[in-house]
Amino acid sequence: MGRIFRVKLRLRRFARRHPWLIIAIRSFMIFSAAFGGAYGFITGARSEHSGYDAHAFAIGTSFLFAVACVALATLSMRLRWMRKKMRKIALHNEALADRNWELKEAEERARSLFESQGDLIVLRDAEGRITFVNEAYCELAEAPRSALIGSQFAFTVLEQGDAAIETNGTRIHDQKIATGLGPRWIAWREGLIRTDAGRPAELECVGRDVTDRTETERALAEARDQADAASRAKSRFLAMASHEIRTPLNGIIGMSSLLMDTPLTPEQMTYAKAVKTSGDALLSLIEELLDYSKIEAGKIDLEQRPFALSALIEDITELLAPRAQARQLEIAACVDERLPAQVIGDAARLRQVLLNLAGNAIKFTSTGGVALIVEPGIWPNEVSFLVRDTGIGIAPEAQQRIFREFEQADARIGRNYGGTGLGLAISERIVKRMGGRIALESKPGQGSTFEVAIPLAAIDGDSEQKTVAMPDLTGQSIMLVAPQSIEASLVARRLQRWGGQTCVVTDAAVAQALLPERAWHAVLIDGALDADDVEKLGAAARAHATQRIVMFTPATRHDLKPSSAFTGYLVKPLRAASLATRLSIAGEVASPNLAGEALIEAIDPKETPSTSPSSGLSVLVAEDNEINALLMRSLLTRLGHRAVIATNGEAALESWLAAKSAGTPYDLVLMDIQMPQLDGIGATRQIRAREAGQAGLRTPVLALTANTLVEDRYACFEAGMDGFLIKPLDREKLAEALAGLAATRHLAA
Ligand code: ADP
Repeated sequence: MGRIFRVKLRLRRFARRHPWLIIAIRSFMIFSAAFGGAYGFITGARSEHSGYDAHAFAIGTSFLFAVACVALATLSMRLRWMRKKMRKIALHNEALADRNWELKEAEERARSLFESQGDLIVLRDAEGRITFVNEAYCELAEAPRSALIGSQFAFTVLEQGDAAIETNGTRIHDQKIATGLGPRWIAWREGLIRTDAGRPAELECVGRDVTDRTETERALAEARDQADAASRAKSRFLAMASHEIRTPLNGIIGMSSLLMDTPLTPEQMTYAKAVKTSGDALLSLIEELLDYSKIEAGKIDLEQRPFALSALIEDITELLAPRAQARQLEIAACVDERLPAQVIGDAARLRQVLLNLAGNAIKFTSTGGVALIVEPGIWPNEVSFLVRDTGIGIAPEAQQRIFREFEQADARIGRNYGGTGLGLAISERIVKRMGGRIALESKPGQGSTFEVAIPLAAIDGDSEQKTVAMPDLTGQSIMLVAPQSIEASLVARRLQRWGGQTCVVTDAAVAQALLPERAWHAVLIDGALDADDVEKLGAAARAHATQRIVMFTPATRHDLKPSSAFTGYLVKPLRAASLATRLSIAGEVASPNLAGEALIEAIDPKETPSTSPSSGLSVLVAEDNEINALLMRSLLTRLGHRAVIATNGEAALESWLAAKSAGTPYDLVLMDIQMPQLDGIGATRQIRAREAGQAGLRTPVLALTANTLVEDRYACFEAGMDGFLIKPLDREKLAEALAGLAATRHLAA
């Protein structure tokens, strides 16, 4: 059926294409039929042997007539059927005409849309010849459409931007082109579009004039670069200025502490103290400004070094304890035992953040105290540091604001407490750089909790090692008698983790009444209670508790009377390790001597003052500032060392050479960086160059500088220096550096 239909279709197509051939064939057939019929009839009728029979003739004629009638009937039926078909076709044709009209209209609309577009639209064939352009393109090209169509016209490209390809294959790129209106930036989108089957695809390019946007972006980028440069210049300036301010400040702070060591009248002492306090305040202000400028300039480089979490927290607590205790505030810390002992991170920056938060907590609290709690965070490897206080709190509307620079919750209150409003801005930036977050929860009048959560990875293989060697207190009862609750609750929490059962009592009389209730493993009595109460409680506990421990602050140790009622002492804020050691000691121990420093030694060896027995080093000090040189000499002499001063790099080099050739080389060189003639870096390079290839000890050189920028440190290390001492130098820092050196000398000798 299908085959016949195809043959028919082909024949029809052939007939349509060659109508003259069909006419000729048809004419030939009609002629042949008429001629054949007439010829046959006439020839038959004229033949002698035709035997004409009128009947047969009539029958033949009738038959032919019948055939003709059948043919006519068939033709008429076929005509009717054809008419019906024609009507159908006419209807279909009408629908097609409508559709055609619609399509034309749609095409017209699309064309006018194309034309009215502000964007440039151009279609090109495979050879790059233009097949369509819209009005906008013609206008920008300043050429009529007829000239463009069929040509390979393209704008002159002045600058080519980067190109990107979208997932659907569209290529996007920016071009700066030359036009009659001047250079314009065009953002092009180019993609292939399919045309009729059998013909290659065309390239459709749509371009948008983005000159204004690009110029604005460029202006913005330029402005940003300028701002960056200005910010770098500002931070450099701040670093320079702070260096310049630090140097005389070094003199002020150092000299005032030296002055305070001399016999002074009480009035003179007050003035000297005021000078020192103001110097310290100025120094911390300069340091904050410098820090802020460094962070602003993106110059904080975070270290990734292992450090002990609990040591860091306990150091911070101890550092702030005198400030808190002087204001009758409690300060205590607790590090969760589930945390790894050692983690990797930047301990110095974390310490800076926590010192700022805890320092604020003390500053804005007048009753109660401050707690530092370290717990595992909500994410793996995250550590959460909580700094909680019972202070004035922060109003809800100020809670966001105080993290911005130079913002204080309440300017009036701020004036009373002092401060710059920079601390939290710096802290937040540091925490963000560490990949962490800082959050605040506070209610005015009830206190605040700042939470710093940062990722700190544990040292490999260290996850099992616990912070402190935990004593096993399972089944042991421990009573804590303390009038204030912060430290007591943290100690109780720690003891419970160690397996102990705790009972916290705030009143001495209640504690005394509770003592006979059971056998106590230990009774911890806070020295903040009335001295007589402490004494009585200690005596009463003798019969009921194995360990009787009194806790006190360094400032109140002299108020305690010597007593045999106690088996041990702990200094507040408590260190977990000291508490663990004290509780692990079995049985009753002899009462230590409560007089003077001996007590401290009995309590915690860590508290021993550093009376470093110096072996007397010979130190060359290269320092051009007279006051600082004098200060260095005094400090070194007081620490039992011999100091020789050189006022510039060249003099230092000469002195170093002379000492070496005389066979009495210096044990140490303290080298100022900025000096006239030859600076510290140059002098150190020369020392190292002369030492190279020579036998004998390498002289340690420590930089003495107020510059704290990382690049300055690198420069020092590159020149061959061994370390750093940051000005203003205090006695402790210097003593620490020299004690370390003296010890190594001693070992080497
Ligand atoms: P500064 O303390 O030098 O003013 P900060 O940025 O450290 O600067 O603190 C900004 C402000 O936030 C403080 O002035 C104070 O108003 C408020 N603030 C910070 N910590 C506390 C806190 N623990 N309790 C109450 N207010 C606080």
